[in-house]
Amino acid sequence: MAIDLKSLNIEETEELILSLGIEKYRAKQIFEWVSKGADSFDEMTNISKKHRELLADACYISSAEPAEIYRSKLDGTVKILCRFRDGEHAECVALPYEHGISACISTQAGCKMGCSFCASTKAGFSRNLVPGEMLSQIHILNKELRKTNPNLTVNHIVLMGIGEPLDNYDNTLKFLRLVNDPKGLNIGMRNISLSTCGLVDKIERLAKENLQLTLSVSLHAPTNDIRSKLMPVNNKYCVEELIEACKKYIAVTGRRISFEYSLISGVNDSRYCAEKLAELLSGMLCHVNLIPVNTIKERSFAPSERRNIYAFSSVLEKAKINVTVRRTMGADINAACGQLRAKKL
Ligand code: SAH
Repeated sequence: MAIDLKSLNIEETEELILSLGIEKYRAKQIFEWVSKGADSFDEMTNISKKHRELLADACYISSAEPAEIYRSKLDGTVKILCRFRDGEHAECVALPYEHGISACISTQAGCKMGCSFCASTKAGFSRNLVPGEMLSQIHILNKELRKTNPNLTVNHIVLMGIGEPLDNYDNTLKFLRLVNDPKGLNIGMRNISLSTCGLVDKIERLAKENLQLTLSVSLHAPTNDIRSKLMPVNNKYCVEELIEACKKYIAVTGRRISFEYSLISGVNDSRYCAEKLAELLSGMLCHVNLIPVNTIKERSFAPSERRNIYAFSSVLEKAKINVTVRRTMGADINAACGQLRAKKL
C-alpha cells in the first residue's frame, strides 16, 4: 500500500479513483477531506462505505502523531515533535502574530547541510518528508491550537523547520501547490516563505517556477572566509555565486528576497561584517532579518550583545538597506528547530 492520498493533488486523486471504479467527481470531495485533515476514511461521510473500503485497500493517509507538545508561557508559541508512520521525527511550530498564525514546517527528518550553529543537522539525516507529511504538520498544529480556541487556524507558512527544502525540491514544491489549492487549505503563496541555506542551482530552478512566495536566504556572513566556517554549503556555492543567483531570482520574479543573518558574538557581528554586508547587498531588492543566534546545547556559540546588534543594524540602515531586528519566540520551549529531535535521538 504505497500510495499516500495526502500527497496527491486533485488530478492524481481523480486518476486513482477512476482506476478503482469510483466516479471522477468524487475526487474533489476526497481531496477536500484529506486537505482539511481527515485522518481516516470513515470521516468521509459523503463517500459511500463501499468506496471508502476501496480507498482504504488501495492507499493510506499520511499523518503525524504528537510525540511531545510544548506551549510557551511567554508568547503562546506551540511546538510539536511529530512522529511519522515509520517512527521518524520532525518538529513544527505555530507562532502567533498580529496578522494570524504562522506555521514553521520541517521538510526533512534531519538535515545534511551541516551548519555549525544549527541543531537540526546535529542528529543527522534520515530521509525526505513527502508532501502529505508536511501537510500533516499543519493539521496537527491546527488541531492543537483549536483546543484553546476553535477559531484559530494556520494562515502563514514558513519552511524554516528541520531540513533544507531545496534539497527535497519536488516534494516541497508539491506541498506548496497542495496548500495553495483553493479546494485545500487555500493558503496564498504570498503568505508562504521558503528558507534555503543557498543551493544556487535550486534557487535558479525555483526562479523559473515564478511563484509569489517569499524566498529567504540564510546568509549569516558577508565573506567566504566566515561563511565557509559556519556553513559547509559555502564550499560548494560561494557568497558571490549565491548573491548572483539571488539577483537573477529577483529579476525573474520581481519578488524581494529576505536575508537571514543570525548574529553570533565575536564571529559575524563586527562593524567590518556589517559594512561588508551593506556593500554586498547594496541596491538589491531585499530585506535583512537580524536575529541573535539561539544558543543550543550542542554548540558553544553565544548571541551578540544587544548594543552590538543595534550597532550592526544601524550600519545597514545608513546604507539604505531594509533591516529588522527579530525577537526570538518560544525561548522557554526550545523553539529553535532541531532541538527536540536531537534530544529524542
Ligand atoms: N535549511 C533552511 C531552513 C531551515 S533553518 C535554511 O538553512 O535556511 C531556518 C533558519 O534558522 C535558517 O536561517 C537557519 O540558518 C536558522 N538557524 C538555525 N539554527 C539557528 C540558531 N541556533 N540560531 C538562530 N538561527 C538559526
